[in-house]
Amino acid sequence: MLIYHFDNIWVKIYFLLHLWFANEGFCGFFGSEYVQNGKPIMTSNYNMSSTWFKRIKRGILTSTKEKKNVPDGLWFKCPGCKKTSTINEIRSSLWVCPNCNFHNRIDAAEYFEILFDDNQYELLFENILSRDMLGFVDLKPYKERLVDAQKQTGLKDAMTVGAGEIHGRKMVIACMNFSFIGGSMGSVVGEKISRGIDYAIEHKMPFMIISKSGGARMMESAFSLMQMAKTSAKLTLLAKAKLPYISFLTDPTTGGVTASYAMLGDLNIAEPGALIGFAGPRVIKETIKKDLPEGFQRSEFLLEHGFLDFIVDRKELKQKLADLLDYFKMN
Ligand SMILES: [Zn+2]
Repeated sequence: MLIYHFDNIWVKIYFLLHLWFANEGFCGFFGSEYVQNGKPIMTSNYNMSSTWFKRIKRGILTSTKEKKNVPDGLWFKCPGCKKTSTINEIRSSLWVCPNCNFHNRIDAAEYFEILFDDNQYELLFENILSRDMLGFVDLKPYKERLVDAQKQTGLKDAMTVGAGEIHGRKMVIACMNFSFIGGSMGSVVGEKISRGIDYAIEHKMPFMIISKSGGARMMESAFSLMQMAKTSAKLTLLAKAKLPYISFLTDPTTGGVTASYAMLGDLNIAEPGALIGFAGPRVIKETIKKDLPEGFQRSEFLLEHGFLDFIVDRKELKQKLADLLDYFKMN
């Protein structure tokens, strides 16, 4: 067994030279040229050992397109296929897994960046905040929960409304944020939709809601449930103004949101694999005492059963919307 004794100077020199040869190759070290017409010439054992370590092609040949950014030290594990990618990779593929096409949940800021031209849009009604009307306390007081959610997410509530252009076509988009108390529909969500519709009517702009919600916000009780009727009534006014309303359902769209504005679109479209339903599959299974069919309550299942107009991949969403807006304008 070979043991290096580093306290011996000659062993140190031998060891360093060994490393040098291994890295640079003998030909590099002695300044000899062993490459002709781009092909290595191997005439002796020394030459052969040199080609193992010598860089035959000079320079970095990876094209800019293929270059991957240096990871920020952050990795992302896909919930679908469990494959790990860097944050940069997943971000550049719009938070869709490059391996299995799993659409990860994203909030309004990311959707607006994908959809609005040059990420330019006007945020509307950011001054509306929730209030604890009922003095509601579950695991912690609702007032405290709101403050915590605002601190954690940097958002005011579970709804963000923006007005901008999609390939040059004007549009108002109301997008839910699942990270804010499960995207629950409280009075702020309803009020922002309502004012968003007013804005769309006033400026004669088409309207879209991106739904992503666990349903009504129980801490607001009846104030939350009221939003279903309020938003539905407002959407009628939008229809009377002959302005299109596109409902985009993403994972998950459930409860009172499905039972109101999410299913009222002139077009109801969805992301692939999104959970869409009123009650959850477990509740239904326990109620009907039967096993549910495979893929139950996923977008593909709903499309097959006539609940959706079509499913659109996130990467094609912007172009598809631009085409739809043109279609609505012509008709
Ligand atoms: Zn995946």
